Amino acid sequence: MADDTAVVWVRRDLRLHDNEALVDACAADAVLPVYVFDPREYGDRAFGGRDSFRFEKTGRHRARFRREAVADLRARLRERGSELVVRHERPEVVVPAVAEAVDADVVHVQTLPTPEEIAVENAVREQLRRLGVTPSRHWTHTLYHLNDLPVEYTDISDTYTTFRKSVENRATVREPLPDPDLSSAPVDAVGAGSIPSNADLGVEALDTESDDQGVLQFEGGETAGLARLDRYLFEEDRLREYKQTRNGLLGQGFSSKLSAWLNEGCLSPRRVERAVRRYERERVSNDSTYWLLFELVWRDFFQFQFAKHGTDFFRRGGIRGRDDIDWRDDDEQFERWAAGETGIPFVDAAMRELNATGYQSNRARQNAASFLANNLRIDWRRGAAYFETQLVDYDPASNYGNWAYIAGVGNDSRDRYFDILKQASTYDGAGEYVTHWIPELSDVPPEAVHEPWTLTEAEQAEYGVQLGVDYPAPMIDLEESYRKLR
Ligand SMILES: Cc1cc2nc3c(=O)[nH]c(=O)nc-3n(C[C@H](O)[C@H](O)[C@H](O)COP(=O)(O)OP(=O)(O)OC[C@H]3O[C@@H](n4cnc5c(N)ncnc54)[C@H](O)[C@@H]3O)c2cc1C
Repeated sequence: MADDTAVVWVRRDLRLHDNEALVDACAADAVLPVYVFDPREYGDRAFGGRDSFRFEKTGRHRARFRREAVADLRARLRERGSELVVRHERPEVVVPAVAEAVDADVVHVQTLPTPEEIAVENAVREQLRRLGVTPSRHWTHTLYHLNDLPVEYTDISDTYTTFRKSVENRATVREPLPDPDLSSAPVDAVGAGSIPSNADLGVEALDTESDDQGVLQFEGGETAGLARLDRYLFEEDRLREYKQTRNGLLGQGFSSKLSAWLNEGCLSPRRVERAVRRYERERVSNDSTYWLLFELVWRDFFQFQFAKHGTDFFRRGGIRGRDDIDWRDDDEQFERWAAGETGIPFVDAAMRELNATGYQSNRARQNAASFLANNLRIDWRRGAAYFETQLVDYDPASNYGNWAYIAGVGNDSRDRYFDILKQASTYDGAGEYVTHWIPELSDVPPEAVHEPWTLTEAEQAEYGVQLGVDYPAPMIDLEESYRKLR
């Protein structure tokens, strides 16, 4: 028998396409989608556990993106005669209250693999159980479905290559679902509610001017996410050269820039996979088209790794429980790193880009993270938490998984430190990236721009940059820090 009324608690699945929770809910006569801004996700808080520290949970870039994504979903639902109820309150208060008000028979919910998200879901389920309402859970965040893995998620390999080969050879990606056939929403019983501003959430407003320097304006929402996918693949035909260009540091077209939309659920990874397959049929199928899927499997890998290892990922010694690294807590050094004032231009450019825009390329992230975790040996989780605040595309599994990997406490037993000067000359030989973000160095010639400390006083005067005045002297001796790591 069909349900009379279904509530859909929308979380990081802010889309109509390929959304199992919405599609299944449409078996009911009336469907009411609800989105909840959880106050615990905003503002200052403790990291928790041993060696805790404080950080801001969601910064201005992601708060803005998320609000836009919610507004876009609401508009798309309204176009179809439905509605999105929005609240700023704890989900375990809101979702049962809405379910009760509309006399819901079922609540559909996206389930996620990361500990905080699981805890909130459990709190909601607990309250729903008291009301006698059945929650129906949907796994919608990954390319491969949890139930389609060749082995139980608890038994997957901790090594990426082994995991990738197993899914490539023994699993298939499900067909994306069609858009839901929505009926009118019983919203009168509760009222639609308004979308909070950054200020309502306790998050600083955006300085739009600095955002203009970024590689792309990341506009939240399914509409913008689908447009980005189409632009990158079909309009600008970039995918054919992705493998060669993806390390480019300046410019929107070098990599897909889909991460923010994927992580807030504005885009389904299965939809991206289908677009790549179409591109392969209509344009070209080569190592670049494969490589985008290869990267989406990295994303899946970390999602399933978190399902497997849970909170162990947030320990200083990581999933490998390493206790042989002498992590430091040095507030002053940490602040300099975060502000992009280390005196190492490649690291500073990366951090200034992150602060201004919420985005960094993978190459920039690797170097900025490696500098903090390996050269400075500051508790890698403080760096990861700083990225959590700033990133527009933050995802708990991708962020902490990648950080742990680079810090040597995650899914790889090899030391993963980066030779930052070598990386800078390989990927930014002409110094365009560093001078874009550090205009103080604009007149320094490319051969010295990554090592301004090698300039004599006369050269500094000639190039208009006085070290320690216009741009910092390096905060550590890089060579010395590498000697300790070798
Ligand atoms: C220290 C560190 C922290 C990171 N934190 C995040 C994070 O919070 N959220 C996030 O989405 N990515 C994170 N990444 C991975 C990666 O840097 C970004 O996904 C990528 O830069 C996003 O740009 P893009 O969409 O153009 O990527 P593309 O190169 O176009 O890749 C396509 C998609 O594949 C996925 N992907 C690519 N590389 C990785 C990877 N190493 N791990 C997981 N997924 C990947 C992303 O969904 C990405 O959108 C982190 C990497 C590092 C080194």
